[in-house]
Amino acid sequence: MKTLLVLGGGTAGTMTANRLRHRLDAHEWRIVVVDQDDEHHYQPAYIFVPFGDATRDQVVRSRHRFLHDGIELVLAEIDVVDAEARTVGLVGGRELVYDYLVIATGTTPRPDQTPGMLGPEWRRSIFDFYTLDGAEALAKALADFDHGRLVVHITEMPIKCPVAPLEVTFLAEAWLRRRGIRDRVELVFVTPLDGAFTKPVAAARLGAMLDERKIHVETDFLVEHIDQERRVLVSYDEREVAYDLLITVPLNMGADYVARSGLGNELNYVPVDRHTLLSTAYDTIFVLGDASDIPTSKAGSVAHFAVDVFVDNFLEHVEGRPMTGSFDGHANCFVEAGDEKAVLIDFNYDVEPLPGKYPVPYVGPMTLLKETRTNHLGKLAFRHLYWNVLMPGRPVPLPAHLSMAGKQQPSQPPEEA
Ligand SMILES: Cc1cc2nc3c(=O)[nH]c(=O)nc-3n(C[C@H](O)[C@H](O)[C@H](O)COP(=O)(O)OP(=O)(O)OC[C@H]3O[C@@H](n4cnc5c(N)ncnc54)[C@H](O)[C@@H]3O)c2cc1C
Repeated sequence: MKTLLVLGGGTAGTMTANRLRHRLDAHEWRIVVVDQDDEHHYQPAYIFVPFGDATRDQVVRSRHRFLHDGIELVLAEIDVVDAEARTVGLVGGRELVYDYLVIATGTTPRPDQTPGMLGPEWRRSIFDFYTLDGAEALAKALADFDHGRLVVHITEMPIKCPVAPLEVTFLAEAWLRRRGIRDRVELVFVTPLDGAFTKPVAAARLGAMLDERKIHVETDFLVEHIDQERRVLVSYDEREVAYDLLITVPLNMGADYVARSGLGNELNYVPVDRHTLLSTAYDTIFVLGDASDIPTSKAGSVAHFAVDVFVDNFLEHVEGRPMTGSFDGHANCFVEAGDEKAVLIDFNYDVEPLPGKYPVPYVGPMTLLKETRTNHLGKLAFRHLYWNVLMPGRPVPLPAHLSMAGKQQPSQPPEEA
């Protein structure tokens, strides 16, 4: 009997275990998933919590309910991986032995990494929304906020879902307008990037959306510390941004056990071959989801497309055959824009987000890089797709690889609406 051990039972780990349970002979393979708790969170819904548009019971499900029969779930914190001995030590002393390992422990916000972020003002005037507790605390603070400087801030890239801070900014702007207090609030978006987003065409479109909403953008801002008493963000180049209420995205890092195991880079992400997701150091370790160092967005969509490619590759690899699938870094992300509209972006390692239609070229129904109600409805529908189709490992009729059909290059004239 061989053992496939999956570390992390979130988006990538759950899909991986369920998909492989169907493909690996149960008489030959044990599949074991390890996670520290039994709460599976649908993280894309966190952005709606501060504005009262999603509740805890819509976000959280029991993890073990989503794992198929024939998959063991071990609830424990991972302490260390010994990749030479092929063992995983758990906090409490238990040791698990594996033949193949999938690391899918994601990335976590780390407010402890920025001086002055934690402390007496944490969740009083400084909030995060990358945790459910943080998003709920922010909802309470926003209910009492009726004037002043509201600052949305990104500490450093990469972060999971890099458009989520923009979404919260757009949603806050629309929410302030709905409450009739937009003119009493100064909205500021503070980013370490040189624009609203990383790639030129999307950065221009999303930057224009910030301008249209009269949201001031502070670019190239690398926070050195937060002065809680004076309520200012201070950058390494000694600029200051004042706030009354700060919504920050702390530094995101891979799990600490990755560092303890000598498997990670400086942010605890595991280096892999970006086309096969196989560790560059060990041919018994694959990394799926946010935990690897692949140069694309850290997003659930990426985990989904990567798992599609990985499943067949894994079967080839364990039989000693060359892996024939090649992951292209495909990502797509909805960007909530407020007023029940959203923008959709679709890109990969080589192709930046471009205008066009998705998923059916020239038809849609979704429109890329444009605010539409259909895109917003697509974002809302995705939650149901996530719990009922993606997590159980059912097939989704979306190609794993990016398609250029129907996409307009920057030099081409824009398509008619
Ligand atoms: C605010 C927000 C909005 C988002 N919006 C979108 C979106 O619109 N579209 C999109 O595609 N993606 C979005 N994402 C990103 C998406 O949620 C993640 O990319 C996805 O969940 C990554 O899957 P993963 O399996 O790598 O990590 P996760 O789903 O985070 O799972 C990691 C698991 O590992 C476990 N774990 C970690 N360390 C240990 C340890 N030491 N011991 C035991 N268990 C451990 C955790 O408990 C967790 O269950 C968003 C994320 C956030 C925070």
